[in-house]
Amino acid sequence: MKKTRLLALGLSIASIPTVVAPVITLTSCGGQKISVPDITEEGTIVILATGGTIAGSGEEGKETGYTPGSISVESLIASVPGIEDIAPLHAQQVCNINSDDITAKIWVQLAKTINAYADDPEVAGFVVMHGTDTMEETAYFLNLAVKTDKPVVITGSMRPATAISADGPMNLYQSVVVAANPESKGKGVMGVFSDSIYSARSMQKVSTFDVTAISAGPMGALGFVRNKEVFFYEESIKLHTHKSDKFWILPEDKNKKDLPKVAIIYIEADADPTIINWAKESGAKGLVIAGAGAGEFSEKFVKKIKSVVSKNFPVVISSRIDNGVIVQDSVLVEGTVAANDLPPQKAAVLLRLALGLGITKQEDLIPIYKKY
Ligand code: ASP
Repeated sequence: MKKTRLLALGLSIASIPTVVAPVITLTSCGGQKISVPDITEEGTIVILATGGTIAGSGEEGKETGYTPGSISVESLIASVPGIEDIAPLHAQQVCNINSDDITAKIWVQLAKTINAYADDPEVAGFVVMHGTDTMEETAYFLNLAVKTDKPVVITGSMRPATAISADGPMNLYQSVVVAANPESKGKGVMGVFSDSIYSARSMQKVSTFDVTAISAGPMGALGFVRNKEVFFYEESIKLHTHKSDKFWILPEDKNKKDLPKVAIIYIEADADPTIINWAKESGAKGLVIAGAGAGEFSEKFVKKIKSVVSKNFPVVISSRIDNGVIVQDSVLVEGTVAANDLPPQKAAVLLRLALGLGITKQEDLIPIYKKY
């Protein structure tokens, strides 16, 4: 049996308990200095844990009423039989939070950490453990900010570790299988959930409760995992990871610590456009509109949006409908940018990254929303 190295505690897999139990709760993270240890075993998979339901604990057997982000990564790994036989593992607890508390500061820290480890020739790939609520945003951010063709897999679970038939252990096992497989190289950040592999760009949370809550809608899965085998059928053609150049966030980028704020405006019948004033006053440097239908909104919104885009304030048009594409030809207001198939929450991630580089003009944003 290969020894699993759990450097955070300096323990071997054999010396830690196999029963999951609440161990630590780190509530603040992000913005720390990046320092990663030298990895000595070839083919090591680095597991970076951020919390979520996969690290959740509550009343034994129950699926609800638990606390996400309360079990340490070491305990979670120890609860997965045979995981240490897939590849040497190195675990790091980046933070331990509910993913609804994720911040751009944590994203930046994660990207820098992955990029620092990626330079180590002994590191073969990564697994990021994360809550499912905002997993798709973190996945898409990393898909653009990490500079490596080594596999980066993100996973989580819908049931806490203390529930009957918790789904976390299998998702973690399958994620390590995918991250360790040479065929996963160059495929960008991938979500692994309930036997399926998704591209970070397409993956989305589609259910509030069931164990197949992460899916990719009409884009479908990239492939599947069965036991220790990986089966790929599709690939994303959008720019990502080793090809996303301008969006990389590297450990040496000392002054990159956070991303500019943007606001998502959700359109409903009779929506009040003065919400845009509130967004601007609260510090948003750009807007994403979750429009009705094909990114549409009322005449009063048209007027308001016209007035902000004319002052070089970027506005990206997405839709509140899950399955759809907004094309540049169909935007209602000249000067706004079509999000294409990106849902509002991902369109916002891309806008924050672009604004972080000082990109605000429509003509510069349009190709970005087409390529990434
Ligand atoms: N609220 C949890 C989280 O996102 C839900 C989950 O992980 O499934 O952290």
